[in-house]
This record gives sequence, C-alpha cells and structure tokens, in this order.
Amino acid sequence: MNSEDLKDKIRFQLTELGLQVGDTLLVRADLGSIGKLSRNRLDYIDVILGVLGESGTLVGLAFTGATFIRKDKKNIFDGSNKANTGAFANVMLSHPKAKRSRHPTNSYVAIGKNADFILDDHDENSGAYEPIRKIKQLNGKMALMGCVSTSPGFTTTHLAEVDLGLHRRIIFPTLNTCYYKKEQAKLDLFKRTDIGGCSSTFFKFYAHYVREQILQQGYVGNAYSVLVDSNKAYDIDYKILKDNPKYNICENPDCFLCRARRWDNLQDAPAFFIRKMYRKFVSTKS
Ligand SMILES: [Zn+2]
Repeated sequence: MNSEDLKDKIRFQLTELGLQVGDTLLVRADLGSIGKLSRNRLDYIDVILGVLGESGTLVGLAFTGATFIRKDKKNIFDGSNKANTGAFANVMLSHPKAKRSRHPTNSYVAIGKNADFILDDHDENSGAYEPIRKIKQLNGKMALMGCVSTSPGFTTTHLAEVDLGLHRRIIFPTLNTCYYKKEQAKLDLFKRTDIGGCSSTFFKFYAHYVREQILQQGYVGNAYSVLVDSNKAYDIDYKILKDNPKYNICENPDCFLCRARRWDNLQDAPAFFIRKMYRKFVSTKS
C-alpha cells in the first residue's frame, strides 16, 4: 500500500474508531506499529488533525521526568526538552503549530482550537494531570494506538488517583526533582508532589471499560487501537480506586514504585531491598 492509500485508510479507521470533527483527542501511540506513512513523520499528526478539523484539538503527553534523590543541575526543563514519552510526543512537539505547557516534569503538547485552554495555566504551580481535567471539560476523547498492551491505560486514571488523594500514599514524592528555567538564566528547583501510581497496572482497568461498554476498538494503520470518552473512563477509574485504593499496585517483585515507595504497602519493602542487595552481591562475586 502506498502512503497516500495508507493515509486514506487511517482517516477512515479514525472515523470508525469514533473520532469526529471538532473533537478534543489525547493520543498515546506507537508510531512503528501504525506503519510507515512517508519520510515526513509529521504526516501522522496531520492525518489525525485532518479528521479533527479546524475546530478540533490534538493533545499529547510530553513528559520529561525527574531525578530521584540526586538533584541534577543538568536536568533542566526549559520548554525545549525532548519528551521521554515516545516518538509520537516528540513528532507533535516538532509540529509548527504545537504549543507546550510549562510544567517542569509533566508538560503536555497540543495543537488546535483548544490548545491554549488546555495548556495555559499548566506550570510548576499546577498538578501534573490537570490538563486531563480540561480535556474532560471539553468532553474529550483518549486514544491508544499500537501501545494498548506495551503502555496500557488512559491518563484519566492518574487524575482519579490525585482526586482521591492516593498520591499521598507515595513515600517522599518531593525526592523527585528537576530544575527549570522560569526567568532568563535563573534556575529553580521543582519538587514533585503528585506522583502517579504504577501505570503497568492500568491494563486491569480495560476489563471494566469493556464491561461498561465504553471501549471503542479498531485499527489505525496496522496498529490495534482503543478509544474512550474521557469522562466515562474517569468515572470508572475513580470508582474502582475509591473501592480499592490498592488496585494500582502491581505484582512485579522488582517494581520500585509498588514495592518500596508506598506507605500502604511497606510490608513488601524488606523483601524488595534484600532481593536487590542479594543480586548486587551475586553480580560482584561473578
Ligand atoms: Zn508497580
């Protein structure tokens, strides 16, 4: 299939998935699994924008991350940093119409009519997941393209965690820091206060979306993709976590976040650190 045919196919698939002109859409995507459109990777963005139309808005996560305990003066957010949330975010950031919020660790990128509304007040004084609340206010949709199993879930879950106060269960979140430039040549230290729960557990939420019949499924190019209404997903996330605040604790014995950084799961910490020390001991012996 040539690239023009693939673009036509993707436009049709996005409509089948439930996208409409004027929608606000947050996308997380694995570009490689969608298929190669052309040499210009901005085509991925423009095809989606074409379906959303002039009145629509495309949003991406352009997170940059923090360092733990160590305050690293080389880790400076100045708005030009590459995102650590994958190629889709970085292609979005390279789009000539892209705007980015100023939150030092969890900035968002947006293109389209409501970009300013979603991004404008998202800075060092704002919660990391507040743009999701704006997307909810716009009755926005959330899509995963090709990363349904490799990077599961919707960011509504993190907003629900914060609204339920579950971020206070993370041990010493302010040990996660980065520097940022607010005024020219002046560095400020940003301390994270609202670290999200373990997103590797978010695949468990899919079953609930299916049961409530809110999960639209289809393909974008060759990529298995899902789409939800942000308000409906949030309501489900909120109810699940309210009923069981430990639902977002994973089973991976090596997960630092779940085994060693939750006040409500401290019983796992000794075994985690003993295992870690044992491995270090064995590796230095060999
Ligand atoms: Zn975990």
